[in-house]
Parts: sequence; C-alpha cells; structure tokens
Amino acid sequence: MRPRKLICAPLGVASLAVAAFLAIAAGPTATDRNVPIAGPGPASSLSAEMAAVAGADATADSGGMKAYKSAVPDSATPGDCLIFSFPEEAREADCILYDNAGKAIARTAGFRAGESAEAPWVFVLAVPATARPGLGRLETVLRREDGSAFDRAWGVSIGEKAFMAEEVRLTAKNAAIRSDFSRERMKQIDRLNEILFRFDPGAPRYFGPWKSPVGDAPRSAAFFDARTYLYPKGTRETTYHYGIDFAVPRGTPVFSSGDGIVVLAESRISTGWSVVVEHLPGVYSLYYHLDSLAASEGEAVRAGTLIGRSGSTGLSTGPHLHWEFRVNGEAVSPDWFLSRD
Ligand SMILES: [Zn+2]
Repeated sequence: MRPRKLICAPLGVASLAVAAFLAIAAGPTATDRNVPIAGPGPASSLSAEMAAVAGADATADSGGMKAYKSAVPDSATPGDCLIFSFPEEAREADCILYDNAGKAIARTAGFRAGESAEAPWVFVLAVPATARPGLGRLETVLRREDGSAFDRAWGVSIGEKAFMAEEVRLTAKNAAIRSDFSRERMKQIDRLNEILFRFDPGAPRYFGPWKSPVGDAPRSAAFFDARTYLYPKGTRETTYHYGIDFAVPRGTPVFSSGDGIVVLAESRISTGWSVVVEHLPGVYSLYYHLDSLAASEGEAVRAGTLIGRSGSTGLSTGPHLHWEFRVNGEAVSPDWFLSRD
C-alpha cells in the first residue's frame, strides 16, 4: 500500500546521518523558530545536539507492554503517522511538523513512554493527507525544570501520495441525516470532537502490534477517498472519507485493533452504533455503523477483544464496517498501523 517503508523505522535503523544532514540543510537555528518558547532558551549548538540525538537508540519501558524502540524518521507519507522517541531530561516537550513552505501542519505534546520519569519522550504526529510534498522539518521544544527551553530539529522528506475518488448516491433517509442540524446531532458531534482532540497524558500506552478489526475481509472504500454525495434533489457535496470500509455482512464480530480504553460507546445519528478506543495520548481507533455493542465506556480492552458486531446503522448504504484512526484529531491511514510490527 505504501510506496516506501522508511516512515518510522521501529528498531532505530533510519538513515540517521542523512537525518542530521537534512536538518542542517533545512537550516533550523535558534533565531528562526516560530513557536512560543517559555523562558530564554540557550542558543543551542544544533548540529552537535542533533548528532548526539541521532546516535541515541531509545528503548522505553512501555508499562509492561511491548518494549519500544524508535529513531527520528527522515521521511513521511501524507496520511501516515510519525512516531519517534528519545531520552531527554525535560519537564515537558512539544513537537511541530512544518511543511516545505514553513507552515505548521501538525503539532503534539510529547509523553513519557512508561511510568518512570526517566522513560524517553515519545511523539506521535499525524502527517495530514493533504500535506504538500517536499523537505519539511520536525522541531521539538523541550522545557527544563527551571523553565528554560531548548529545541532540536530534523529534516523530514514528505512524499507524494494519490488518493481515490468515488460517488455515493444518497437515499432520502441518508440525505436527511447529512442535512440534520438538530441540537441532538450537534451535541453528538461536539462530544466526539472533544474526545478525538483530547490529549490525556494519563492515557494507556500501547505501541502495537495492531490488528484489523475484521481480519482480511474485503474492502469497499479506501482511506481519504474524495467522496461526492449525490443528493436526491440533484445537488452534490464532496467530503473526504476518513477511514476504511470493510464489506462485511451484518453480525460480523468486530475486534479492537489494540489495547486501550473504550472512551465512547453509543448510538449516533450519523455513524450509528459507534465505539472509540483510546490507545495512546491523542491516539484513537473508531468503529462505526455497528449493529450491536459488546463494550461499554470505561472498559479496558486488548487487541482482539470483541467490541461489537457490524451492521448498517446511521448514514450507511448497506452492511459494512467503517474503521478509522485519529491522531490529535487528524485522520490517519489505518494501514499505517497495520504495517507496524
Ligand atoms: Zn466509511
């Protein structure tokens, strides 16, 4: 599916020398930062720091789960994820991804990989599906206990990716759902967004392996299809499809893609019976149009736990499962998670 497999070398095998070189070429300096810094950060010797970090190969205690290793990635594909870690003494850490025009296209707070205060910082960023190709820049800003700040930066090459387009003809019932601006639906949208944009440092720590919720069932729609809805009255509206659709019969068991906590399990007007699982701070998987639920909010689940059965509830043209991942609110390709092991 992905044209290259350099995005996130899980065992620290990314081309680190290249990463350091690109960072220098991208020209991050103490004066060109465009993020707010708390306190007077020192004029950092970036090349020396980058070399030190590039040599680091972090292993995190991930709270009894699978040990986690990751190097700073030097390339990325739109719609995928960037995850990396490094050990650093700091009170807090943030990371921003800039495109080749210097525009911030993703940002996140860092979190500790495990319980201990010495556990490495981990950053998980969504590379938006709409990201422009070219040489971008990853910049982390770390704050020490005394309030001073320093930064580290690396070049990251953002590749090109083509997405599909499709048309979906709406029945009167489905058109009515899309046109429903009732207070109830708005409340449901607000609640879901509040969850998906929530970054909880106390969230679970699950780094994989990830599973498809319905095994290798056939697919009927891809991630980030440009989807044009055709209304019965002849009007059209184009949106993007944030997940993958599996063509599975009603009643097919649906399993959690990873360990985590069920943070939403309810019936929604547009997505029908729905489940959302939190796996990491800011990282969520979503399951829509279920026929019935087998999980409730607050429940801890494992990869492979039954959370419901597929159906055709909400805005749906027939039985299927919609499966989606969000990272800090941004939709990312579920296949990226499956490709990690
Ligand atoms: Zn879908």
